[in-house]
Amino acid sequence: MNIGVLALQGSVKEHMKMITSVNKKIGVVAVRTVDELAAVDGLIIPGGESTTLRRLMDSFGLTTPVRERILAGMPVWGTCAGLILLANRIEGETSCLGVLDIDVKRNAYGRQIDSFVADEDFAGMYMPMVFIRAPKITRVGEGVEVLGEHDGDPVAVRCGNILATAFHPEMTRDNRAHKYFISMIDAKE
Ligand code: GLN
Repeated sequence: MNIGVLALQGSVKEHMKMITSVNKKIGVVAVRTVDELAAVDGLIIPGGESTTLRRLMDSFGLTTPVRERILAGMPVWGTCAGLILLANRIEGETSCLGVLDIDVKRNAYGRQIDSFVADEDFAGMYMPMVFIRAPKITRVGEGVEVLGEHDGDPVAVRCGNILATAFHPEMTRDNRAHKYFISMIDAKE
């Protein structure tokens, strides 16, 4: 199995280390080109700055190929900025990949200085969730399953092959969210 991490900006290395910590035999690929994308069985879109990420995705010619792979069923996991890129609607902006029926509001949990950690359930697993200028999911479409909440708001959602979390599991020592994503790819193969 090869898992790609979109490696244009953001918490790329942290995700790669987490995947390796789950299973050293899994190939981990930094994805910057269409050829690298073609070689992976699943893709993580990391946190970072969504405006920068979407600009870089466009200039690397990756936006349409990534969207097409997702629509063809490739498991994808967007964390924080990655979640924003997956969303169908971004308040005040046009959508980027637009493959997940949720509405999001960027930076709705405040500024960098307001970053926090909360212990919450993700898919039935109690774990630390790190929020850094996180987006808020303000609407969840039909058929989108809520896997985690904080203060009554959804912070982890899934629709088929698409997983999105507003928090950063790669910034903790808990690799169970990565295990969960790997099991989505396993189920597909
Ligand atoms: N605030 C960032 C954005 O809107 C996301 C922050 C993050 O990924 N930690 O793109």
